[in-house]
Amino acid sequence: MAGFEIIDPSLRAFVEVDEGSDFPIQNLPYGIFSGAGGGKRAGVALGAWIVDLLALEQAGLLPVDPALALFGHGSLNAFAAAGRPVWRAVRARLAELLSGIDPRLRDDAALRARALVPMDACTLHLPFEIASYTDFYSSEDHATNVGKLFRDPANALTPNWKHMPIGYNGRASSVIVSGRDFHRPMGQLPVAGGAPEWGPCRELDFELETAFFVGKESHLGERLAPDEAPEYIFGMVLMNDWSARDIQRWEYVPLGPFQAKAFATSISPWVVTLDALEPFRAPAPEQDPAPLPYLRESDRHAYDIELTVELRPQGGEGMVVTRSNFRHLYWTMGQQLAHHTSSGCNVRPGDLMGSGTISGPTRQARGCLLEITENGKRPLTLPDGSTRAFLEDGDEVVMRGHAKRGALRIGFGCVLGRVLPPWP
Ligand code: MN
Repeated sequence: MAGFEIIDPSLRAFVEVDEGSDFPIQNLPYGIFSGAGGGKRAGVALGAWIVDLLALEQAGLLPVDPALALFGHGSLNAFAAAGRPVWRAVRARLAELLSGIDPRLRDDAALRARALVPMDACTLHLPFEIASYTDFYSSEDHATNVGKLFRDPANALTPNWKHMPIGYNGRASSVIVSGRDFHRPMGQLPVAGGAPEWGPCRELDFELETAFFVGKESHLGERLAPDEAPEYIFGMVLMNDWSARDIQRWEYVPLGPFQAKAFATSISPWVVTLDALEPFRAPAPEQDPAPLPYLRESDRHAYDIELTVELRPQGGEGMVVTRSNFRHLYWTMGQQLAHHTSSGCNVRPGDLMGSGTISGPTRQARGCLLEITENGKRPLTLPDGSTRAFLEDGDEVVMRGHAKRGALRIGFGCVLGRVLPPWP
């Protein structure tokens, strides 16, 4: 293999992969699956297949010590903790094995039968045991739109916003994998000028986000520079940060969101590595004013990842309600990680860090219903004629993401979830 970073765009897998698949051999995203007669183990997605990494590890084909059983833990934490040189060596070996450049998998029918599993016969699980979850607020368009609705149209951004990636420490226990439905939360709902009511959330929303998983750990007191981020970031997923706007409005002063975002956060199952995204580098927005030195980057960049949100009413036709792009984010993942560790806070394998809602400069690029419907004032009309200010029971939200350059396309798959009636 020439270079670990980029798998030759002309390389083909020895198994058939549909053109336009999110998972060509240039992607190789990691996940956790079960089925086909085995317990939870690690795999990579390849077209409509899952490549069973535990099977390859046990066959001695991966550049790791088989005695560690890195891929048999039921989460990616142990593999991610091994660090980027190991991630890259495994990625390069997989490209060789799955293309047939190294024929040991292609030419071994018994191993092939064990190691290539149809994805539709499997169950996908959370890819990591999630150590903790932080959500940022890094889209200038989102922060501006929300600030106009809730603060002051003339001073939509708070005075700190352009000086640091704003974030809050969220709830890891209720992060769920795509395909798992969730119940509309109950909570305290504000009543104008009076005491709150108790009841089911009436302003349930989605938030279009990406998130990254930390692989390598840092230590207490160790401040990471943005330029060091690629050594620490294992990869990215799509994230839907479900939000109860009415609960949020009442509770968020003075300490920020609590129960409004604690009931469910959905992520896509396949973790796309930064090496796979490398061909899709794009300029990140220029920063004015220049940030403080600890947030400065020598190689500032984003990735050109197109993102969509589809809203599907129960039994009805869906509609794409958002088209946005990861490159719109004002603060990069490197800056987020640098700020997160700026106090000496350590990070661990399996830490999940959300981008914040990713809105863009156009009306079509608004990343949540709060912005799209302007807090319910301009409801959406769906193909079945029904309208939505916020989500109703039975609604399903599907987020997708992919990057494309010439004939090369890699994707994230999707993150989807359906709103169920409140917990009894
Ligand atoms: Mn969020």
